Amino acid sequence: MGDWIYLIIGIAVLGVAVLVGLVSSVRRGRGGATGTDVIAPPPTDADVEAPGGAAPTAVLEPEAPVLERPEGTASRLARLRQRLAGSQGGLGRGLLALLSRDRLDEDTWESIEDTLLTADIGVAPTQELVERLRTRLRVDGNEAGDPRTVLREELLALVDPTMDRRLQVTGADGRPGVVLVVGVNGAGKTTTVGKIARILVAEDRSVVLGAADTFRAAAVEQLATWGERVGVEVVRGPEGTDPASVAFEAVKEGVDSGVDTVIVDTAGRLQNKAGLMDELGKVKRVIEKQAPVTEVLLVLDATTGQNGMIQARVFSEVVNVTGIVLTKLDGSAKGGIVVAVQRELGVPVKLVGLGEGADDLAPFDAGAFVDALLG
Ligand code: GDP
Repeated sequence: MGDWIYLIIGIAVLGVAVLVGLVSSVRRGRGGATGTDVIAPPPTDADVEAPGGAAPTAVLEPEAPVLERPEGTASRLARLRQRLAGSQGGLGRGLLALLSRDRLDEDTWESIEDTLLTADIGVAPTQELVERLRTRLRVDGNEAGDPRTVLREELLALVDPTMDRRLQVTGADGRPGVVLVVGVNGAGKTTTVGKIARILVAEDRSVVLGAADTFRAAAVEQLATWGERVGVEVVRGPEGTDPASVAFEAVKEGVDSGVDTVIVDTAGRLQNKAGLMDELGKVKRVIEKQAPVTEVLLVLDATTGQNGMIQARVFSEVVNVTGIVLTKLDGSAKGGIVVAVQRELGVPVKLVGLGEGADDLAPFDAGAFVDALLG
């Protein structure tokens, strides 16, 4: 029995000794980072070049990033107008060729209808347009105008030049404008947020970005890179954080630092409508504790046709969409979707994406668009 007691006491003493040793070594380790003996000497060349050494990176001054200068407005618009004409010109040219035939017979009108439907203008607007063109270009009427002029006027009326397409990026009462960007994954949401930031930077506005698409680490990284390239702060949280909390922090940061505009990227999981509504509703509510949302942009991929329209409907039922961004218009000749989606939502297309380049985003202008269609 006595032997047992000595053994237990022995083990206990040993345990305490090991514990004391451990604690003191942890203290020494921490001291290495923050204690008094820590003022690290400036790195020597040997330190910097030490292969795989972790220590030198801690003391190296980060290099000031070289900021990109986003393309100026005039050159960007001229370039993108040409690109738009390149991708959409076929539609107008096809229509004009048909309308310029000597006899506008039933077969020709059918071909005109098919051309419009193929360009995703939608059934009702196609019928309206054909009806208007038939009336104005009736072969027997002496008053029949020049097909090109008539077509231009009628297309313009469909696209509706009277809609207010200005982006609401300015807040009131000294608070920033807040732009909430929504849409399904892959539509080009994150890219669009980055491109809008560049346009604002090119106009000398200050911007904060919120990476509230927290379900995809890649989206957060992607946005961080967009921000870094033009010196715009990106507020982010760890993967899986509540998107609303990131949105809140981003707008708070924008308010505290007095920037002009905060743009918030959101998650685009099209789960069920109720889930989406909960998520986006919450994001909007928490943002508005800081500042009103001035613009809700729905990003739609122009190449997705009818599918895109269904998505548009769901999102517009969930949030109060105030503007549409049509992306990938460079990759599809289906510019008619502009007409269809505006009709469907009663909301203007405000921006169009015309490429993967960083400055390939243009404000939508009805006249320029119709001119591009007509080539
Ligand atoms: P998100 O999932 O909605 O955030 O989509 P992303 O911003 O990650 O974009 C998805 C893909 O679409 C990327 O490869 C983008 O480069 C591409 N993309 C976005 N906008 C455009 C555009 O206007 N034109 C083209 N051609 N590609 C685009």
